[in-house]
Amino acid sequence: MIRIGPAGIPLSCKGRTNKDGIIYTYRTLDLNAIEIQFVRGLYVMPDEEAQIIRDYSEENDIEVHTHAPYYINLAGDDEEITMSFEKILKSAQMAGNIGAKTVILHPGFYGEKSEKKTIKMIIKNSKKITGMIKKEKIKVDIGLETMGKQKVFGTLDEVVEVCKNVKGVIPVIDIAHIHARGNGCLKERKDFEDIFEKLKPLKLKHYIIHITGVLYENGNELYHLPIKKGDMPIAPLIEIILDNNYDVTLVSESPLLEHDAIYIRLQVEKAIMKRTGKEEAYYKDLSEVV
Ligand SMILES: [Zn+2]
Repeated sequence: MIRIGPAGIPLSCKGRTNKDGIIYTYRTLDLNAIEIQFVRGLYVMPDEEAQIIRDYSEENDIEVHTHAPYYINLAGDDEEITMSFEKILKSAQMAGNIGAKTVILHPGFYGEKSEKKTIKMIIKNSKKITGMIKKEKIKVDIGLETMGKQKVFGTLDEVVEVCKNVKGVIPVIDIAHIHARGNGCLKERKDFEDIFEKLKPLKLKHYIIHITGVLYENGNELYHLPIKKGDMPIAPLIEIILDNNYDVTLVSESPLLEHDAIYIRLQVEKAIMKRTGKEEAYYKDLSEVV
């Protein structure tokens, strides 16, 4: 199954609440996923809205993920770690309220520490936070994102290593970040196949993939671009997904948000048409191609 959705309330959606966003994503855009952003500091969502989102997503089979506030450091000093736990736990509670599957976060920074010491801390603190989430009986996974800057923890290898060691932590494959960090390393099919190869030990049944165009310099992400303005192709990724019948959720993090989610959808449908030889395709119907 292929799910596609925007990372946030669609730009063209008049109402600016998450409830408005999810309804618009489904009804107007006909997309089946959304990643709700809890990124602006302490986020509050009224219980009533949470309930509506929960019911609506269930009724219409929309997959919901959430993104925790950006500044989190599971490898920081005690104060930073405590603050990070608070933000993650609060996000997890809200995620639980709206029936989301995942709280996605940026794990942290190396600072002056070695990579080895950093990964040890991140593993230790990921275990602590998943323990707290479990204790509160919240059923969400922690999604660790691959990160696009050299000084930030989160190469694909590192993220896989943490996921191997901590139950309840899954990778969020931000391909633009991998591309930027590798200074434009994702060029052809083989490059994307390497990603899935590295993920193999985790035996994932489902992949969350962040997609956007990206501008980078010396192995560092500068900023996001519309997919078409970036130099990373997405067609090879779509081919691999269809060839392997991977269960994926493709989240557009492009500055064009839903417009690029639709662009991804069109690329998927183009790939389906190429396979069926027909002039029509629907991304939710893969029955003829897998
Ligand atoms: Zn992120």
